[in-house]
Amino acid sequence: MPVLRDLEIGAMMWAVRDALPRIKSLGVTCGQLGLAGDVKLDAAFAQSWKEQLAAEDFHLATVFAAYNGESYADIPTVENTVGFIPPATREEREARTIEISDFAAAIGVKSIACHIGFVPADDRNENYIAVRAMVRRICDHAAKHGQTFALETGQEPAATLLHFLNDVERGNIGINFDPANMILYGTGDPIEALGILGPRVISVHAKDGDWPPKDVAGALGTERPLGQGSVGMPRFVAKLKEIGYKGTMNIEREIEDLEQRYADMKMAVGLLESLR
Ligand code: MG
Repeated sequence: MPVLRDLEIGAMMWAVRDALPRIKSLGVTCGQLGLAGDVKLDAAFAQSWKEQLAAEDFHLATVFAAYNGESYADIPTVENTVGFIPPATREEREARTIEISDFAAAIGVKSIACHIGFVPADDRNENYIAVRAMVRRICDHAAKHGQTFALETGQEPAATLLHFLNDVERGNIGINFDPANMILYGTGDPIEALGILGPRVISVHAKDGDWPPKDVAGALGTERPLGQGSVGMPRFVAKLKEIGYKGTMNIEREIEDLEQRYADMKMAVGLLESLR
C-alpha cells in the first residue's frame, strides 16, 4: 500500500469508464471507486480489481454505489429517483448495497458510500422511518466487514443530516462530505456545514460548483473545475485542517468529455497540493 500523507490527494473514479493507470497518471496514489448499478460484481471482477490495485500500488478508501434508474437532471428528478428515498426501488437498492459491501470487503476496502437521496426533515415521515431502518441494516452488515458507511452530503441541510446520523444510532455511520453539492442543491454554505458535521466526516470530495440560477425552479447549480466555482478551495482545505480531518481529499469531476475531465483533475491535483 502506498504511504499516504495527511490530506492526501485522491481521485473519485468510475469502474469501466476510468482505467486505473490513467487515473494514477494524474499524480494520485489513492482514491474512491464508483460502481454503476449495472456493473456485475462477481468473483472475477473482484479478482481483477485486487490485481490492478496491487499492480499500481493504489489505495482505495471507499467503494461508492450508484443505482439503476437514478437521474440527476434537476432537483425534483433527484428527489424521485436517487438513493433510498423512492419506495419502489428501496428493496433492490438495499440488496445492491449489501453486494457493494461484500465486493468492497473482497478487495480490502474499509468504507462504502452512496447518495441516499433527500432525507426528510420530519423524523415522523414514513420515508424517513423506512430509510432509517434500511440504513441501520446496511450499517450492521458493513460492520461485519469492519467497514464504515458514508452518506454523500448535499441534498439536505447539515442540521437535518446530523439529526438523521444521530438517530441511526450506529457507530460506523458517517458522511462523505462534498462541498460542491451543498452549493449545487442550494442547501447552504458548505464551510459552515463542515463545521457542524466535522466529527462525522469519514471521507471528502474535492469538487467545485456555482449556485443554482434564482429564476429557474428546481434547477441545479453548475459544476465547475476545482478552484473556479463558489466553494472557495483555500477556505475548504483550511476548514478540513481546523476540524482535524486527516483522510483523503478525492477530486471529483463529473463532466462527460473524458479528456477535459482528466485535464481538470490534473489541474486540481496541483491546486490541492498547493493548499494541503
Ligand atoms: Mg460527490
